[in-house]
Amino acid sequence: MTSRDGFTWTHASGLTAGVPSIGVIDPPTNVPNSDASYDVIVVGAGYCGLTAARNAAAEGLKVLLLEGRDRIGGRSWSSNIGGYPFEMGGTWVHWGQSNTWREMTRYQMMNEVERSFDFSHGVNHYELNITKQGYTMSHEKEDELLISALNKFTNIDGVYGRDTIPLPYDTFHTAAAKDLDNLSAQDRINSIAPSLSPQERAALESFVLLCSGATLITTSFHEFMHWWAMCGYTYAGCIDMLISWKFKNGQSSFAIRFFQEALATKRLAYAFNTPVNHIRDIGAAVEITTRAGTRYTAARLICTVPLNVLGDVTFDPHLSASKRAAIATGHVNQCVKVHAELANRDLRSWTGVAYPHNELMYAIGDGTTPAGNTHVVCFGGGNKPIDPEVDIDATKRAVSNMFAQQDETPQIERLVFHNWSNDEFAKGAWFFPAPGLLANHLEDMRERHGNVLFASSDWALGWRSFIDGAIEEGTRVAYEVGKELVELRNVKG
Ligand code: FAD
Repeated sequence: MTSRDGFTWTHASGLTAGVPSIGVIDPPTNVPNSDASYDVIVVGAGYCGLTAARNAAAEGLKVLLLEGRDRIGGRSWSSNIGGYPFEMGGTWVHWGQSNTWREMTRYQMMNEVERSFDFSHGVNHYELNITKQGYTMSHEKEDELLISALNKFTNIDGVYGRDTIPLPYDTFHTAAAKDLDNLSAQDRINSIAPSLSPQERAALESFVLLCSGATLITTSFHEFMHWWAMCGYTYAGCIDMLISWKFKNGQSSFAIRFFQEALATKRLAYAFNTPVNHIRDIGAAVEITTRAGTRYTAARLICTVPLNVLGDVTFDPHLSASKRAAIATGHVNQCVKVHAELANRDLRSWTGVAYPHNELMYAIGDGTTPAGNTHVVCFGGGNKPIDPEVDIDATKRAVSNMFAQQDETPQIERLVFHNWSNDEFAKGAWFFPAPGLLANHLEDMRERHGNVLFASSDWALGWRSFIDGAIEEGTRVAYEVGKELVELRNVKG
């Protein structure tokens, strides 16, 4: 099945909207009629909504899952093209991400992963292109450069953040951690700038921007330190946990397992292509109205709509002023991720940075396609925004510019991408906050509103902004709703 989401470009077909995915659900609905009543309605079929719907159905609740898109997976989905899975959004998983790994164990998928980068063959080096200055170095030197720069960046307390964020699931456990959220990444870089070489600074800045998808000024230094803490306070931990392992058959091969399990309970009704416009809490129940005007009711509602699009749903009664303030602030990640399939067969072990002049700034050799081509994944973001589908030649140029030091000009056979910034159901990539958002509003984002519970990777406690955080949150709210409804039934006898 082909999703409406995503784009591909090839010489033969030009730019095409929509890519195939096993995450597209056919038939798109199994809802018998709008009069049916449910224990819980789940809005959103990303990992958070899928987890919540599956757990609630498995616990015996009657569940209705409503999704605006034609597919499951939300910000994590894959498209298999020419026998090769391209990851359109969330990609990497690691056993240090305990919620994700628990689910992979449930579905016996622990071995269905493969390495992303592989420094064992072909062009095997790191290119650091800083405007007009280019350097080529071994991956060992790349690591040395980043370790040196990141250690200076993160060493806020003499122990690389360990005293300031000792318990990352309680991110503001210390007062000092809250203070960090007043700072931007730019503030921190300014304070250590004299100690950084130009190479360290470019490598550091591009790495931080790779994490935030924003600008240095809009990147919360605290949130970067939270990622760092989750990764064990080391660069090696970051590389291991953030970009090492991906599913052999793509993210959608994982997400579909949640959906299939929920469906097998026979307690899951679902409707795709069904954006929710309005949510009304009527005391004894919650009523939702879809964009098409259909109404459904349930005892509870789990809303997994991401922060940047939550303002497009109206609530009666109004959400609290502080929750609305968080929604109005939003998150800042406008990451652009572009996959390039290159006829150059020997770039498997290449990594590169082109910063700050290029629209794509960070890229790695990520695989070899069945055709024998190299798959390189490239990242840009809010520091130099680009809409890849608007000017495909500019996008191709941005890919080519990653290889300034490479003798061989990259021969682009195919581009694959999803424009998350222009996506009406995301308006951004993974959650990343500007300074102040979390210190002021983390609790507000998590707060329930009567019979409506809010769950999202965007306000998870641990791997916030990761697939793991989405599963953490879906697990939390399904448990809470299940417990409440059982208690209610017991009271009613
Ligand atoms: P979503 O996946 O956004 O799910 C919310 C769902 O709600 C969506 O399906 C949306 O369509 C739906 N929705 C929105 N509005 C409405 C409405 N009004 N009515 C009905 N439905 C609606 N994480 C990792 O762990 N590893 C990675 O390598 C990684 N890389 C990433 C790269 C990119 C480019 C992106 C975009 C994300 C990446 N992430 C990664 C983050 C990860 O994808 C997300 O944190 C996670 O998938 C979010 O899950 P969620 O269920 O909380 O939200």
